[in-house]
Amino acid sequence: MAFVIIDACSQEKAAKCLDVCPADCIKLADTQYVINPNLCIDCGACEVVCPVEAIYHEDELLAEDKHSHLLAINHFR
Ligand code: SF4
Repeated sequence: MAFVIIDACSQEKAAKCLDVCPADCIKLADTQYVINPNLCIDCGACEVVCPVEAIYHEDELLAEDKHSHLLAINHFR
């Protein structure tokens, strides 16, 4: 299980999540930050600091945001 960054990140890219992630598993992909689902330890620290509420646990993603999870999986494959 992992947290997922959705499209809303692309408008902001505040990168506050990078400062708090203890697993160093958030990287910039083309237009937004993405979380490596293989390294995320599910701590939730990134979720609370995101100013645009662009980070969700994968179990709580809305249907229209599921593609963001696939983006992360494919990016770190
Ligand atoms: Fe990093 Fe924790 Fe967020 Fe996973 S949940 S990306 S480990 S801060």
